[in-house]
Amino acid sequence: RILIPDAQFPGEADIEREVAGKSVVFCVHRERDPERIADADWRACDAVLAWHRMAIPAALAARLENCRIIVRTGVGVDRLDVAACGARGIPVCNVPDCGTAEVADHAIALMLALTRGIVTYQDRVKADPAGGWRWHPGPLVRRIRGGRFGIVGLGRIGTATARRATAFGMEVAFYDPYVATGQEVALGVGRAETLDQLLPECDVVSLHTPLTDETRGMIDARAIARMKEGAVLINTSRGGVVDLDALYRGLKEGPLGGAGLDVLPNEPPDPVHPLLKAWRAEEAWLAGRLIVTPHAAFYSAAGFEDMRRKATETALAYLKDGRLKNCVNTEFLPKRGNLPRGTAPG
Ligand code: NAD
Repeated sequence: RILIPDAQFPGEADIEREVAGKSVVFCVHRERDPERIADADWRACDAVLAWHRMAIPAALAARLENCRIIVRTGVGVDRLDVAACGARGIPVCNVPDCGTAEVADHAIALMLALTRGIVTYQDRVKADPAGGWRWHPGPLVRRIRGGRFGIVGLGRIGTATARRATAFGMEVAFYDPYVATGQEVALGVGRAETLDQLLPECDVVSLHTPLTDETRGMIDARAIARMKEGAVLINTSRGGVVDLDALYRGLKEGPLGGAGLDVLPNEPPDPVHPLLKAWRAEEAWLAGRLIVTPHAAFYSAAGFEDMRRKATETALAYLKDGRLKNCVNTEFLPKRGNLPRGTAPG
């Protein structure tokens, strides 16, 4: 019995059913609030496929009496209390390769849309086909080649983004204290030992860390103040990594030139936040300097199908064969052979 509490796919769980076979019962909901799902459903399920809408805190994990595995249909596990799940003997897995190429493409697309003035040019031509037919640049249009592209978090997506930025003739540098020495040599990119060292050097800074206690609010007023005049900040990681108030001030008062955001601290966004209010009202000072997309960087039809298929395969591999794939809370699980239910993690 597999519970999907917050499905974000339209229609039936047909892909999941095809992978799991007829013997598995799917219980599909599209909720944000766990209380809208019967307590019996939480208690009875053998596995949970978790999308990003609903948090799974310790109190909810405690109701998963029968559950042997939780799989995040995606990468980020910041909405799940992975320690509490682990303490209950429930492995939490993710689908690490979901959207790796798509998110990297999206980060580069946001940079290009801003620095090539795509949105500004289109808006002008649409508003006035004759008068708008001119090359006079939007505020951020510049030569990309030779610029410095900074990456915070050189994991899968950060690396894929680095390769793309290199192909555009940019000089790439990164900050990631958890990447072993030598990776910069393998990739042919520069390494900064601290965030403070990276930020002042870069024309574009792209964020690719998970949301953790360490990265929450990492790009705050102090960090933004260190950025280069006119720099562009791209965030396709998690909204909480950037302090939105500081971003607003950084764009309004400097030094930031622009920002491309696929993620926000509150999703859907808080429409009364001054930055989003100014953007929606098309205030002149922000024109051509901010692009917001709705946490869609991961999406492509092919990628979405892969993600659903792989998440279900991961759950089934454990339920049927005791094989754990891409477990993110191994450190919190009871030792091998000591799991309260199911099989020991690999
Ligand atoms: P990953 O685990 O491969 O890479 C994350 C990197 O961040 C790692 O190399 C890690 O060492 C580094 N890191 C951790 N803490 C850091 C810190 N304090 N400072 C600097 N670097 C730090 O993950 P990934 O697959 O590359 O995904 C990255 C993030 O992108 C995910 O955690 C998720 O939140 C986000 N994401 C967003 C979308 C979207 O649609 N917008 C889709 C997929 C993933």
